[in-house]
Amino acid sequence: MEKDTIMIQNKTPRIAIIGGGPGGLTLARILQTRNIPATVFERENNPYERPQGGTLDLHPESGQLAVHMAGLDAQFKAIARYEDQEGRLLSKDGETLFSNDDQEEERPEVDRTALRTMLLESLAPGVVRWGHNLRSARQLDDGSYELLFENGLTETCDLVVGADGAWSRIRPLVSRTTPTYTGVTFIEFGLDDVDLQHPILARLVGHGSMFALADNKGLVAQRNGHAHIRVYAGMRIPEGWEATTGFDARNPQIARAWLLNQFADWGNNLLALIHECNNRFVVRQLYALPIGHRWDFRPGVTLLGDAAHLMSPFSGEGVNLAMLDAAKLAEAISEYSTLDEAVRAYEEPMFARSEIAARGANDGLAMAIAPDAPAGTLAFFREVMAAQTEQ
Ligand SMILES: Cc1cc2nc3c(=O)[nH]c(=O)nc-3n(C[C@H](O)[C@H](O)[C@H](O)COP(=O)(O)OP(=O)(O)OC[C@H]3O[C@@H](n4cnc5c(N)ncnc54)[C@H](O)[C@@H]3O)c2cc1C
Repeated sequence: MEKDTIMIQNKTPRIAIIGGGPGGLTLARILQTRNIPATVFERENNPYERPQGGTLDLHPESGQLAVHMAGLDAQFKAIARYEDQEGRLLSKDGETLFSNDDQEEERPEVDRTALRTMLLESLAPGVVRWGHNLRSARQLDDGSYELLFENGLTETCDLVVGADGAWSRIRPLVSRTTPTYTGVTFIEFGLDDVDLQHPILARLVGHGSMFALADNKGLVAQRNGHAHIRVYAGMRIPEGWEATTGFDARNPQIARAWLLNQFADWGNNLLALIHECNNRFVVRQLYALPIGHRWDFRPGVTLLGDAAHLMSPFSGEGVNLAMLDAAKLAEAISEYSTLDEAVRAYEEPMFARSEIAARGANDGLAMAIAPDAPAGTLAFFREVMAAQTEQ
């Protein structure tokens, strides 16, 4: 049978989702609410293999819309931190230049681990197959796809959705493009139990995000749940810099001293974030796909989230887009009579909205980690504030 003729109403399509991040799990959940089975293949061995990372704000028109379509409004309200929406911009001397303490904003924060747990708990047992690290996928003569996993197992499916993030192994089926380094690296570190152990820093960061930007560098600190502060020290630095600079994330003493040296002429209140942080340092080089990344329709395969449109976090849209992609793809699969029609209907608008967000991410990064920072970011924050006041 030709792929095009697989009627969704007459035959249960075999839908494989590669990757159990926010995008893949949201897709599985919304399909489940519409009685369309799907299987998520995730490379991690279990839900607790690693902490999922920092805090995210879900936007009403995208992330929160997807939560609503997933039927999880009440569960989301229980984990959302409406009280952590403040935003601050500081100079390198540690002076506050801009502050938005408006907790009425409708972009509540949520910890990644809490979001993932919420989605996992909403799925029927067996939907997520842990320990399935996709090695490769290929199309068979009948149009279906064969998936080969590192554990030696194989599966076949009618539609494979690459929700497997930045280094997607499904992406090569539709596109030859690979992510390139943005020129900016984040070194991540954290402070625990901040209200009791680091009260001055807890007040400095506030209940939300604090940006201190200057000289092609930045310290971005975010209040997370459980009284944790996560900090990203961002800097423009060539790819492969670790080998030549002596930085060693595994040696906290070296990592701390190296960072203090990079930010040596910054305010003491900001440097305290580096002095007082715990001993875990993680290097995150920021990569992106080109703005406007797209591909020609190919039957039986599509991408969502970072796999489709990886961008720097300076748009604040990454997880929101991933979840909206998932919602729109699930909607299309449930409304169109063939998988091919559904994928076509999903892809064009996804390309359009992700191009806008990717441009925003690119501009945001160029503005924030800049020689004349924080001038551009300050003007941007003021513009956003003025627009909100007018509404
Ligand atoms: C430092 C940093 C800060 C960020 N901050 C924000 C923010 O504040 N707000 C925001 O909206 N976005 C932010 N982002 C972006 C956001 O994290 C991503 O856009 C979002 O996680 C994308 O979701 P996803 O489901 O597409 O992919 P991912 O979250 O990357 O999930 C992919 C999943 O696929 C699995 N996987 C990968 N390869 C395979 C394989 N071969 N086989 C099986 N499974 C596989 C992974 O284990 C993972 O579970 C940030 C990103 C970074 C790097």
